[in-house]
Formats: sequence, structure tokens, C-alpha cells
Amino acid sequence: MKKLSICFLLILFSAALLAKEPTNLSLVKAQLKHYHDNGEYLHDINAVTLEAMRYLTLRLKSPHPGKIALVLDIDETSLSNYPDMVKLDFGGSMKEVIDAEDKGHDSAIEPVLRLYRFAIAHHVAVIFITGRYEYQRDATIHNLKSAGFTTWDDLIFRQGIYNDATATVYKTAMRKQLQQQGYDIVLNVGDQKSDLGQYADKNFKLPDPYYFIP
Ligand SMILES: [Mg+2]
Repeated sequence: MKKLSICFLLILFSAALLAKEPTNLSLVKAQLKHYHDNGEYLHDINAVTLEAMRYLTLRLKSPHPGKIALVLDIDETSLSNYPDMVKLDFGGSMKEVIDAEDKGHDSAIEPVLRLYRFAIAHHVAVIFITGRYEYQRDATIHNLKSAGFTTWDDLIFRQGIYNDATATVYKTAMRKQLQQQGYDIVLNVGDQKSDLGQYADKNFKLPDPYYFIP
């Protein structure tokens, strides 16, 4: 009896030493698809952009001597790469991801397109700051226009010293530069934390469980 109790305690003790096994990768991928396909992803994006539109409406009502601006990220903010992400099984090499972007067939993320149109209609400067590289400019312009983003004040790509910088460093530097040019970035919208931060009056984070950019 004593031996049995010791044995039982040892089993309990060993179980307590086991790490918590992470969720199986196949199940995570299924959850990612479910979040998109059942409409929750779009619903959550819509909720954030409605907040952004309310905030912009308020700011437009008060005096704004600077060049009032909306900064938008592109991937998973203005344009959706979702079909390509599924094709690449939520992975793929950097080359495969860039090749997919360069096909220029991404569709607009509709709630953000509505925010964009609202901003344009109210003479707010719209500036895209993207982590895409300068050599992707033509394909990106073609894609933005075909998706309904037809005009902007500036479209900023990674180049020069920022080619190897983190998105946080690069995007913060670009917003600082815009501020120095006289823009008052009243709202900044992106799907990554690295899209957001200093040199914007208010940041709006869209959901993106699909990838992480530091
Ligand atoms: Mg993005």
C-alpha cells in the first residue's frame, strides 16, 4: 500500500514537471481560417475603423491649422493578402510572399477603404507607409488603384538605410519626417504594433493573427 502511494505521488510529481504543450499547428491554422471565414475578422476590422472614423470626425470639427493626415499601412490594413496566405499555408519564403504581392491582385479591406474615402472626401491628406520595398512601387500602385485607393499625398516604401531596419524603426522615422514636413498625423492605422507609435495623435490597431512584423 505504501509502495503504491509513493508510485502515485511520483506520477503526480512527474506530470507537474511537464511543460504545457502548445496548441497543435494544424489546429492553429484551422482556427486562423475559421476566424477569417466566419466573418469575425472583418467584423473586428470594421469595429476598429468605425472608431477611427468617429475620431477623425471629431478632429475635423475642431481647428486644425496643420496639414491634417491619415497614415495607412498597406498589407493587412488597406489590401488583403489572405488568399495568398492560404495558398502558402500561412508560411512561404520571403521571395514567395513578395512575388505574391507583386502580382498586384490583392483586394481592398473594405472598412479601411471606407475610412480612406471618408478622409479623401474631407480633404484629409492620406499617406501610405508600407514595409514593401521601393522596387515594388509600380505593382503596388497598380494594386492600390485597382482596389479603389486611387489617390494619395504620399506613398512611402522601404529604401536605403531602412532596407534592413525593423518596421518599428523605419515607420517611426517616416512619421517623424512627415511631421517635420508639416503634416499633423491625426490617425495612424495598421495591423502590426510596429506600424504604430510616436508621431501620430492616435493609433488604431487592426487585428492580424496571421503574421508578426517587429
Ligand atoms: Mg501590414
